Amino acid sequence: MLTAKFDALVQQLRILPGVGQKSAQRMALHLLSKKRPQGMALAAALDEAMRGIVECQRCHSFSDEAVCPLCQDPRRDDSVLCVVETAADVMAIEQTAGYQGRYFVLGGHLSPIDGISADDLHIEQLVRRVQQEPIAELILATGTTVEGQTTAHFISEAVSRHVQKISRLAQGVPMGGELEYLDSMTLGQALQNRAFL
Ligand SMILES: [Zn+2]
Repeated sequence: MLTAKFDALVQQLRILPGVGQKSAQRMALHLLSKKRPQGMALAAALDEAMRGIVECQRCHSFSDEAVCPLCQDPRRDDSVLCVVETAADVMAIEQTAGYQGRYFVLGGHLSPIDGISADDLHIEQLVRRVQQEPIAELILATGTTVEGQTTAHFISEAVSRHVQKISRLAQGVPMGGELEYLDSMTLGQALQNRAFL
Protein backbone atom coordinates (compact mmCIF):
# COMPACT_ATOMS: atom_id res chain seq x y z
CA MET A 1 0.00 0.00 0.00
CA LEU A 2 1.30 3.42 -1.02
CA THR A 3 -1.29 5.64 0.65
CA ALA A 4 -4.87 5.10 1.79
CA LYS A 5 -6.24 7.15 -1.12
CA PHE A 6 -4.11 5.28 -3.62
CA ASP A 7 -5.31 1.99 -2.20
CA ALA A 8 -8.94 3.11 -2.41
CA LEU A 9 -8.46 4.02 -6.09
CA VAL A 10 -6.88 0.65 -6.84
CA GLN A 11 -9.74 -1.16 -5.13
CA GLN A 12 -12.29 0.70 -7.27
CA LEU A 13 -10.37 0.09 -10.51
CA ARG A 14 -10.45 -3.62 -9.74
CA ILE A 15 -14.21 -3.75 -10.27
CA LEU A 16 -13.54 -3.45 -14.02
CA PRO A 17 -13.62 -6.74 -15.97
CA GLY A 18 -10.22 -8.30 -16.48
CA VAL A 19 -8.48 -5.89 -14.12
CA GLY A 20 -6.55 -7.51 -11.31
CA GLN A 21 -4.44 -5.99 -8.54
CA LYS A 22 -1.34 -5.48 -10.72
CA SER A 23 -3.14 -3.80 -13.64
CA ALA A 24 -5.18 -1.64 -11.25
CA GLN A 25 -1.99 -0.41 -9.61
CA ARG A 26 -0.44 0.30 -13.00
CA MET A 27 -3.52 2.28 -14.07
CA ALA A 28 -3.56 4.31 -10.86
CA LEU A 29 0.16 5.11 -11.12
CA HIS A 30 -0.22 6.03 -14.77
CA LEU A 31 -3.05 8.47 -14.04
CA LEU A 32 -1.30 10.03 -11.06
CA SER A 33 2.13 10.45 -12.59
CA LYS A 34 1.36 11.33 -16.21
CA LYS A 35 -2.34 11.94 -16.78
CA ARG A 36 -3.81 14.06 -13.99
CA PRO A 37 -6.05 16.28 -16.19
CA GLN A 38 -7.23 13.24 -18.15
CA GLY A 39 -7.82 11.44 -14.88
CA MET A 40 -10.04 14.33 -13.76
CA ALA A 41 -11.89 14.17 -17.09
CA LEU A 42 -12.30 10.40 -16.64
CA ALA A 43 -13.74 10.90 -13.16
CA ALA A 44 -16.16 13.54 -14.50
CA ALA A 45 -17.24 11.30 -17.40
CA LEU A 46 -17.79 8.39 -15.02
CA ASP A 47 -19.85 10.54 -12.69
CA GLU A 48 -21.89 11.92 -15.59
CA ALA A 49 -22.50 8.45 -17.06
CA MET A 50 -23.37 6.74 -13.78
CA ARG A 51 -25.85 9.46 -12.84
CA GLY A 52 -27.17 10.34 -16.27
CA ILE A 53 -27.52 7.12 -18.29
CA VAL A 54 -30.87 5.41 -17.82
CA GLU A 55 -32.77 2.54 -19.40
CA CYS A 56 -34.70 3.46 -22.57
CA GLN A 57 -38.42 3.13 -21.91
CA ARG A 58 -39.03 1.58 -25.33
CA CYS A 59 -36.15 -0.78 -26.03
CA HIS A 60 -34.53 -1.11 -22.56
CA SER A 61 -31.10 -0.32 -23.96
CA PHE A 62 -29.09 2.52 -22.41
CA SER A 63 -30.16 6.10 -23.00
CA ASP A 64 -29.41 9.68 -21.93
CA GLU A 65 -33.10 10.50 -22.18
CA ALA A 66 -36.33 8.59 -21.52
CA VAL A 67 -36.24 7.28 -25.11
CA CYS A 68 -32.91 6.46 -26.82
CA PRO A 69 -31.71 7.84 -30.21
CA LEU A 70 -32.22 4.47 -31.95
CA CYS A 71 -35.89 4.37 -30.90
CA GLN A 72 -36.34 8.03 -31.85
CA ASP A 73 -34.67 7.85 -35.27
CA PRO A 74 -37.49 8.42 -37.81
CA ARG A 75 -35.49 6.75 -40.61
CA ARG A 76 -35.58 3.33 -38.99
CA ASP A 77 -38.09 0.64 -39.91
CA ASP A 78 -40.78 0.20 -37.24
CA SER A 79 -42.02 -3.06 -38.72
CA VAL A 80 -38.86 -5.05 -37.90
CA LEU A 81 -37.90 -5.66 -34.29
CA CYS A 82 -34.62 -7.33 -33.31
CA VAL A 83 -34.64 -8.94 -29.87
CA VAL A 84 -31.23 -9.17 -28.18
CA GLU A 85 -29.96 -10.10 -24.73
CA THR A 86 -27.91 -7.00 -23.89
CA ALA A 87 -27.05 -3.47 -25.00
CA ALA A 88 -23.65 -4.85 -26.07
CA ASP A 89 -25.51 -6.91 -28.69
CA VAL A 90 -27.19 -3.73 -30.00
CA MET A 91 -23.77 -2.13 -30.39
CA ALA A 92 -22.40 -5.20 -32.17
CA ILE A 93 -25.29 -5.27 -34.67
CA GLU A 94 -25.13 -1.49 -35.18
CA GLN A 95 -21.46 -1.83 -36.08
CA THR A 96 -22.36 -4.07 -39.00
CA ALA A 97 -24.36 -1.10 -40.42
CA GLY A 98 -26.59 -3.68 -42.10
CA TYR A 99 -29.72 -3.41 -39.98
CA GLN A 100 -32.31 -0.64 -40.19
CA GLY A 101 -35.06 -1.90 -37.91
CA ARG A 102 -35.66 -1.33 -34.20
CA TYR A 103 -34.27 -3.18 -31.17
CA PHE A 104 -35.55 -4.69 -27.97
CA VAL A 105 -33.16 -5.58 -25.14
CA LEU A 106 -34.25 -8.44 -22.87
CA GLY A 107 -31.69 -7.82 -20.15
CA GLY A 108 -30.21 -11.33 -20.28
CA HIS A 109 -31.42 -14.85 -21.01
CA LEU A 110 -33.52 -17.44 -19.22
CA SER A 111 -31.39 -19.51 -16.91
CA PRO A 112 -33.06 -21.75 -14.33
CA ILE A 113 -29.66 -22.60 -12.80
CA ASP A 114 -29.00 -18.94 -12.03
CA GLY A 115 -32.62 -18.40 -11.00
CA ILE A 116 -33.38 -16.12 -13.97
CA SER A 117 -36.98 -16.57 -15.07
CA ALA A 118 -39.16 -14.72 -17.58
CA ASP A 119 -40.13 -12.24 -14.84
CA ASP A 120 -36.52 -11.13 -14.52
CA LEU A 121 -36.31 -10.22 -18.21
CA HIS A 122 -38.35 -7.70 -20.22
CA ILE A 123 -40.42 -10.44 -21.84
CA GLU A 124 -43.78 -9.14 -20.66
CA GLN A 125 -42.99 -5.69 -22.09
CA LEU A 126 -41.96 -7.33 -25.37
CA VAL A 127 -45.22 -9.28 -25.62
CA ARG A 128 -47.18 -6.09 -24.91
CA ARG A 129 -45.24 -4.24 -27.58
CA VAL A 130 -45.90 -6.79 -30.31
CA GLN A 131 -49.58 -6.85 -29.30
CA GLN A 132 -49.87 -3.08 -29.60
CA GLU A 133 -47.70 -2.42 -32.64
CA PRO A 134 -47.89 -3.91 -36.13
CA ILE A 135 -44.61 -5.80 -36.32
CA ALA A 136 -44.05 -7.69 -39.54
CA GLU A 137 -40.90 -9.48 -38.42
CA LEU A 138 -39.42 -10.30 -35.07
CA ILE A 139 -35.74 -11.31 -35.25
CA LEU A 140 -34.73 -13.40 -32.25
CA ALA A 141 -31.04 -12.56 -32.00
CA THR A 142 -30.39 -14.15 -28.63
CA GLY A 143 -27.21 -16.16 -28.10
CA THR A 144 -26.52 -19.59 -29.55
CA THR A 145 -25.95 -20.99 -26.06
CA VAL A 146 -28.51 -23.41 -24.64
CA GLU A 147 -29.93 -20.53 -22.58
CA GLY A 148 -30.09 -18.24 -25.61
CA GLN A 149 -31.88 -20.90 -27.65
CA THR A 150 -34.31 -21.61 -24.81
CA THR A 151 -35.04 -17.90 -24.48
CA ALA A 152 -35.70 -17.58 -28.21
CA HIS A 153 -38.03 -20.58 -28.11
CA PHE A 154 -39.90 -19.20 -25.09
CA ILE A 155 -40.42 -15.83 -26.79
CA SER A 156 -41.51 -17.31 -30.10
CA GLU A 157 -44.19 -19.30 -28.23
CA ALA A 158 -45.33 -16.19 -26.35
CA VAL A 159 -45.63 -13.90 -29.39
CA SER A 160 -46.48 -16.28 -32.24
CA ARG A 161 -50.11 -15.16 -32.41
CA HIS A 162 -49.20 -11.50 -32.79
CA VAL A 163 -46.30 -11.50 -35.26
CA GLN A 164 -46.41 -12.55 -38.91
CA LYS A 165 -42.79 -13.66 -39.21
CA ILE A 166 -40.34 -14.79 -36.56
CA SER A 167 -36.74 -15.33 -37.57
CA ARG A 168 -33.50 -16.40 -35.96
CA LEU A 169 -29.96 -15.37 -36.94
CA ALA A 170 -28.31 -17.82 -39.33
CA GLN A 171 -25.68 -19.96 -37.67
CA GLY A 172 -22.74 -21.58 -39.24
CA VAL A 173 -19.27 -21.19 -40.65
CA PRO A 174 -17.53 -17.95 -39.61
CA MET A 175 -16.07 -15.77 -42.37
CA GLY A 176 -12.56 -16.92 -43.20
CA GLY A 177 -13.12 -20.13 -41.30
CA GLU A 178 -11.79 -23.53 -42.34
CA LEU A 179 -14.30 -26.36 -42.01
CA GLU A 180 -11.84 -28.75 -40.36
CA TYR A 181 -11.49 -26.41 -37.35
CA LEU A 182 -15.22 -26.10 -36.66
CA ASP A 183 -16.89 -27.99 -33.86
CA SER A 184 -19.40 -30.54 -35.10
CA MET A 185 -22.42 -28.62 -33.67
CA THR A 186 -21.54 -25.51 -35.68
CA LEU A 187 -20.78 -27.48 -38.83
CA GLY A 188 -24.00 -29.50 -38.44
CA GLN A 189 -26.05 -26.29 -38.07
CA ALA A 190 -24.31 -24.70 -41.05
CA LEU A 191 -25.15 -27.70 -43.22
CA GLN A 192 -28.76 -27.68 -42.07
CA ASN A 193 -29.14 -23.90 -42.65
CA ARG A 194 -27.34 -23.93 -46.00
CA ALA A 195 -28.29 -21.14 -48.40
CA PHE A 196 -29.15 -21.80 -52.05
CA LEU A 197 -27.17 -19.88 -54.68
ZN1 LIG B 1 -34.56 2.71 -27.13
